[in-house]
Amino acid sequence: MDIVDLRSDTVTHPTPEMRAAMAAAPVGDDVYGEDPTVNRLQEMAADMLGKEAGLFVASGTMGNLAAILAHCGRGDEVILGSKSHTFLFEAGGISALGGVHSCQIPNRADGSLAIEDIRAAIRPDDAHYPVTRLISLENTHNRCGGAVVPLEYTLEVRALADERRLLMHLDGARLFNAAVALGRPARELAAPFDSVTFCLSKALCAPVGSVLCGSREFIRKAHRIRKQLGGGMRQAGILAAAGIVALETMMDRLAEDHARARKLADGLKQVAGLIVDPEPATNMVFVQLGPQIQLETARVVERLKERGVLVGVVGSRRFRLVLHYWIDDVGVERAVSAFREVLA
Ligand SMILES: *Cc1c(COP(=O)(O)O)cnc(C)c1O
Repeated sequence: MDIVDLRSDTVTHPTPEMRAAMAAAPVGDDVYGEDPTVNRLQEMAADMLGKEAGLFVASGTMGNLAAILAHCGRGDEVILGSKSHTFLFEAGGISALGGVHSCQIPNRADGSLAIEDIRAAIRPDDAHYPVTRLISLENTHNRCGGAVVPLEYTLEVRALADERRLLMHLDGARLFNAAVALGRPARELAAPFDSVTFCLSKALCAPVGSVLCGSREFIRKAHRIRKQLGGGMRQAGILAAAGIVALETMMDRLAEDHARARKLADGLKQVAGLIVDPEPATNMVFVQLGPQIQLETARVVERLKERGVLVGVVGSRRFRLVLHYWIDDVGVERAVSAFREVLA
């Protein structure tokens, strides 16, 4: 890519190895459970996360939706973060399609929810209240700067969930980034949760799809819900083949993205008028225009674009830059120079 596209890690194209695997993939009708490539991906994913079973879904949004609908009935309540992707960016699907009520707790800067806040949000058994059923967490935490939620914290939440007989779901869209940042296997981070989704289509570079993992019984339920949502795909092995390559080859290199994020942050800190906040923990850099900058946000984006650099806008004067497979060291340098020229 000649363009330095830092808007998201979703812009990643499949690698040549993925395209070859897609062309060669054995396929069958996955609605009948007969696609060997989908089955293999689901088994691999479940194994990596230490769960009994996996379900290939069209997107992270569909994975979170199917999971929450499998855990909760109509009128039940899920406790989640006010900055969580499920609350902010999934079109309200859990309530629109599942009748699931949400209780939003403010996310702390590190992406976590205060244990006391969760405890206070759990409803007593009273006819006035919805039934609290589920706690949903996110790791890495997108809107908290790609923050990594530590295992010790999720174990504390698990203890509370056990005490109050609640279920736990993890939106692990970038779970492998968290695993690499913490130097711990993904299955350890997934262990406290009843269900976990992760995206193949972000930093792992696959063109489409996510996998939802959990117990065999849970996945049976989620499978029916996926069908209800119109997510039963047929020869989906063509897509799953890229996912298998992603799991086999794209994990270890995530550390490179994290190193480049730090390098990009260091470069941007040297540009007058830019404030990097927070310090990047994984593959995302968030920058804010300082008060001395008169240029409008939209103009900054436009002028960066003229220089071949694309960034995401996440606030009135705030940008998100995401590192991924298709951004190399030259791309990082080009991004820093482009900001320097535009803000000069
Ligand atoms: C990207 C993302 C999702 C799902 O996104 P899709 O575009 O539907 O695949 C879910 N949660 C988080 C935290 C994400 O970043």
